[in-house]
Amino acid sequence: MAQENVNVVARIRPLSNESNDGTCIETDPISSTITLTTNQKQFNMDKVFEQNATQEEIFGYVQPLIATVINGIHGTIFAYGQTGSGKTHTMIGSDENHGIIPRAIEMIFIALNEESEKRNDNFKFKISCTALQIYCEKTYDLLNGNEKIEIPISDIFKNAKEVEVKSSDECMEILKCGLEQRKVSGTSMNETSSRSHAILTLTLKTEYFKENKKHERISRLNMVDLAGSESRKHTNNNKTQNFEASNINKSLLTLGKVIREIINPTQNQVISYRSSKLTMILRDSLGGNSKTTVIVNIHSNSKHATETSSTLDFAVNVK
Ligand code: ADP
Ligand code: MG
Repeated sequence: MAQENVNVVARIRPLSNESNDGTCIETDPISSTITLTTNQKQFNMDKVFEQNATQEEIFGYVQPLIATVINGIHGTIFAYGQTGSGKTHTMIGSDENHGIIPRAIEMIFIALNEESEKRNDNFKFKISCTALQIYCEKTYDLLNGNEKIEIPISDIFKNAKEVEVKSSDECMEILKCGLEQRKVSGTSMNETSSRSHAILTLTLKTEYFKENKKHERISRLNMVDLAGSESRKHTNNNKTQNFEASNINKSLLTLGKVIREIINPTQNQVISYRSSKLTMILRDSLGGNSKTTVIVNIHSNSKHATETSSTLDFAVNVK
């Protein structure tokens, strides 16, 4: 069943001391339910990670998805949540406390190197990475050097720089460079990173012989740090901010819609991939046999109750 291919988990970050206002949620890890204390509304997840959950535990949850990618099926991990909720912490982490991406890359290299050693010349693999940014429905290549040049979506797979990597360290270095680029403001916006989506993709190509026949397999692991989901008021903002806001809202809404269409297929339904750049780029990796995990990051300080409520709404809508 397609539904088993989409998992939605929540990760609660530790309360910040920006305000002394306490939390706006209660969690029940056994039933994987979060209750919003402001209105007692309950939200059921596939899994809830409380604030003391370690990077290791989070990775443990997505490990089966990574294993599936190693076995030749596409996988995508999204980090969703308002700015400051822990998306980058979850995906990248720090040098001392690695997040999902460095751990996934390491796991992939270890597994494929082992396989290759075991099978001698009978198994070859190539790993390459790309890093794209979507800002206001425009796509940029984060690996093409210093300049942020827009690539039209029709050329994205042809023109985006794909770098072959030989080790997990090399791969992380390249992706980190790409993410640094994300912050560089080609559009004179500040904080573009919280207003854009970053899509880091590893492509695994394996080649092996079985009964004298060559088999080739290609699978992709997409790791997506989404734009901050906070609602941006359309009033009092300038024109650019309004434009940004409506684009972010639109692409996050489309993502939710596409995932819902995938898990609740109806006959002859066309999935709305074409409604946003993000879903166009991920089209081949969403749906079918592919695995998807959505991690909703929650900043549970009471002052963020409205954002938390909307994040939880997104989560249950795609579950
Ligand atoms: P986002 O990418 O969603 O804007 P960040 O990942 O940058 O948020 O997190 C904001 C701050 O909170 C960072 O200083 C980060 O280290 C901290 N943080 C987020 N989640 C956690 C967590 N689970 N444990 C400890 N610190 C966290
Ligand atoms: Mg971030």
